Amino acid sequence: MQTYTLKNANGIELRATNYGGIITSLKTPDADGNMADIVLGFDDLQSYADQSVYFGALIGRYGNRIAEGRFELNGESYQLTVNDGPNHLHGGDRGFHKVVWDAETFEGNGERGIVFTYTSEDGEEGYPGTLQTRVTYTLTDDDELILDYEATTDQATPINLTQHTYFNLAGHDSGDILGHELMIDSDHITPVDETLIPTGELMPVENTAFDFRQATAIGDRIDADHPQIAFGQGYDHNYALNGSGLRLVASVYEPTSGRVLEVLTEEPGVQFYSGNFLAGEAGKGGAVYNIRSGFCLETQHYPDSPNQPNFPSTILEPGDTYQTRTIYKFSAERR
Ligand code: BGC
Repeated sequence: MQTYTLKNANGIELRATNYGGIITSLKTPDADGNMADIVLGFDDLQSYADQSVYFGALIGRYGNRIAEGRFELNGESYQLTVNDGPNHLHGGDRGFHKVVWDAETFEGNGERGIVFTYTSEDGEEGYPGTLQTRVTYTLTDDDELILDYEATTDQATPINLTQHTYFNLAGHDSGDILGHELMIDSDHITPVDETLIPTGELMPVENTAFDFRQATAIGDRIDADHPQIAFGQGYDHNYALNGSGLRLVASVYEPTSGRVLEVLTEEPGVQFYSGNFLAGEAGKGGAVYNIRSGFCLETQHYPDSPNQPNFPSTILEPGDTYQTRTIYKFSAERR
């Protein structure tokens, strides 16, 4: 296993490993220039290998859930690994977060990065086709982390790659994220059933605890009396994003540090997960990660799309190239 360090002209430093493409640390300045590590993680590789929380990891072949791990494609039925109650989650037992990627670094023109490549064999975790995957992490001098995902296949297969980093913009070891102010440019979530599988509908966020069109503290309505909040034990929902193409879809401001995270993506959705299932994980440097001590903004196609004819398609055909970009942009300011 290898660990790679990327550092930009402004001192932002990212560490990642070729095990699961995991981002193990990310140090950025606050509004006074003090650096802190703003991503949750572990001190040792074994803890990442044992984890079921997906700290920092690259997720594939399919981010989020597929109902009962089953789908039909071109008249064939496929059964994927079932690893989350009755469902398939984040690519299965040995998803892309638990494989060793080939990695190469590059540097030049105000950027530096890592290219991860991995061949997922036909039948891996139940998926059809041999998938050639390439994911690039680029850290720019504009304080952006650019995530470029690419894949090709020799048989039609579902694909939905994402990144599962948990952020706490006050510092990974600074308690809960309830005071972070979040904006998501979305009018609808895809509501779920009690096993967190989409019902197939779009639910307007208007007048609900899910409306983040105006920046609102994550904690303000997280315990609202709403059946969707009950299913997720907080926020654990896919937002159908407004607009298309590479655009700003979410931004987060942490008032004590002044740190800001902006999320730009080409994807149609983002999973906003408020860390509801964290349960005292023993983290880096003695940190303890209790419930809601990190949040994820996982850019993606909608969950369970292979079984949802009305959702944007996640099927990659042979001869086509899956290609999608997400950017996490870091800054700090006093508001
Ligand atoms: C899912 C959660 C899950 C978490 C695992 C999120 O993407 O939506 O339901 O518990 O990943 O850490």
